[in-house]
Amino acid sequence: MNFKIAVLAGDGIGKEVTDWAVQVLRAVGDQFQHSFTFEDGLIGHAAIEATGNPLPEATLTTCRSADAVLLGAVGHPMYDLDPTLKVRPEQGLLRLRKSLGLYSNIRPIRIFDELLSASSLKPEVLRGADILFYRELTGGIYFGERGRSEDRSAAYDTKSYSRMEVERIARQAFEAAAGRRGRLHSVDKANVLESSRLWREVVQELSGEYPNVEVIHMYVDNAAMQLIRDPRQFDVVLTGNMFGDILTDEASQIAGSLGMLPSASVGDAIGLYEPVHGSAPDIAGQDKANPMATILSAALMLNSAFGLKEESECVIGAVESVLAQGYRTGDIRQTDTPADMVLGTTAIGKAILAALAKRFAPQL
Ligand code: NAD
Repeated sequence: MNFKIAVLAGDGIGKEVTDWAVQVLRAVGDQFQHSFTFEDGLIGHAAIEATGNPLPEATLTTCRSADAVLLGAVGHPMYDLDPTLKVRPEQGLLRLRKSLGLYSNIRPIRIFDELLSASSLKPEVLRGADILFYRELTGGIYFGERGRSEDRSAAYDTKSYSRMEVERIARQAFEAAAGRRGRLHSVDKANVLESSRLWREVVQELSGEYPNVEVIHMYVDNAAMQLIRDPRQFDVVLTGNMFGDILTDEASQIAGSLGMLPSASVGDAIGLYEPVHGSAPDIAGQDKANPMATILSAALMLNSAFGLKEESECVIGAVESVLAQGYRTGDIRQTDTPADMVLGTTAIGKAILAALAKRFAPQL
């Protein structure tokens, strides 16, 4: 099969990590006889430097004509130091999400056995945790009407959801649960919020179409507690924008490190696949970045954008086997990791490629 992938490396460690994800995709393409073609585009600070625009029209055209977009990260310290700068790297990412109509943010949270001790939670609580979050991305309180009273002594934000907004992401979550362990937690605050009552109503109605998926409605305060108490009870979690923002950050601690967390933002057409972490300017250009979150984002792309499940599992398996061999990058180094097992970006990238080659030809 032929797939075109737009690659937006962005800023900081973006290029270091996307380069390795591209190499992994090329290796998968060669093995499974898919033709992946890659087209680069500018975004973020790099795009501002080159064109004055954080999302040049040429980049948008490249993305629109692709089957999927792979993104590194955007951000540069000069903007963090001066919040008054009007043209900013993150505008590029926000515009891209809006232009591609990406309403659903997908985050797999999974702990690799080898990293159990890197998390702040107890290994016996974490072992086997494997959660897939669906967070609504374009509605809810972050996009509702807001304002101040005339004397500016009071303020309000409104949260609203339409049936259509709930239904389109809920369908994605149901489909995902049907292909996994068949369990869907829908997280809301229906005991207090009217928008949550609509959310629950729509999810409940859809459940009739998915008899093999068990639906559990859970209040967000309880969900925040249950995630830490017993993360293994969750399979797919579906929730709104703000609740999802908070819960996915909480859940990121289950995976141990930012450097391990992939994500996807999808709508009805082209999806955007990117690591959860930022541009990490503190380690950029030093061969210290962990490329695994981006490589796992490529695995997510293979499965969810292209329907290539076996290929996706090969990539995840290669990452797992490198961890099982004891190799670590600095961010996931444990106190007992020997110094010679701590690798830089290039060496861990090569180790993952070698592990992939071994999966393809186990007799070697
Ligand atoms: P960050 O995620 O870039 O870094 C936080 C810490 O984690 C740093 O110490 C960094 O070195 C480390 N880290 C992150 N990714 C790593 C990796 N792959 N391997 C090893 N270590 C890693 O967050 P920040 O420092 O708050 O932000 C830095 C810049 O990134 C800012 O300009 C911010 O606006 C931007 N940012 C962009 C995105 C995005 O593009 N989606 C997301 C978050 C932050």
